[in-house]
Amino acid sequence: MAASLDVSGHCLCGAVSYNATAVSHDVGVCHCGMCRRWTGGPLMYFDVEGAPVIEGAESIGVYKSSDVGERGFCKRCGSVLFWKVAGEDRYTFTAGSLDTPSGFILTKEIFVEDKPAFYEFANPTEKLRGSDAMSAYTGDEPK
Ligand SMILES: [Zn+2]
Ligand SMILES: [Zn+2]
Repeated sequence: MAASLDVSGHCLCGAVSYNATAVSHDVGVCHCGMCRRWTGGPLMYFDVEGAPVIEGAESIGVYKSSDVGERGFCKRCGSVLFWKVAGEDRYTFTAGSLDTPSGFILTKEIFVEDKPAFYEFANPTEKLRGSDAMSAYTGDEPK
């Protein structure tokens, strides 16, 4: 039986929880330097269809990390929750925040040019440079 694309998740302390519809069960991993600093390692994420329903939104801090993106985190416990396109309901949530990650699988690596040499993932993945990955979100031509 296929696992549902309707998912829920929450932060470490439980102040923030969400319900969302995943675009697919594909998990991506971002190797970029901003994600590395933000999470302490590579960021694992899944794409969300439309706007999520968030409970405890008053506990969410948003950091605008670039012209394109905003990063949401729990102000109480520091859990990283989402990266979204600034000013749009275009979200990716962290795979680690999922309540039940069953059915999800790592299929894609982005910003491969920024990956540090100290780790490799064994899953067979599509590997994209950062500019190609970002153009999928912004609609801009790859730079
Ligand atoms: Zn929290
Ligand atoms: Zn990144």
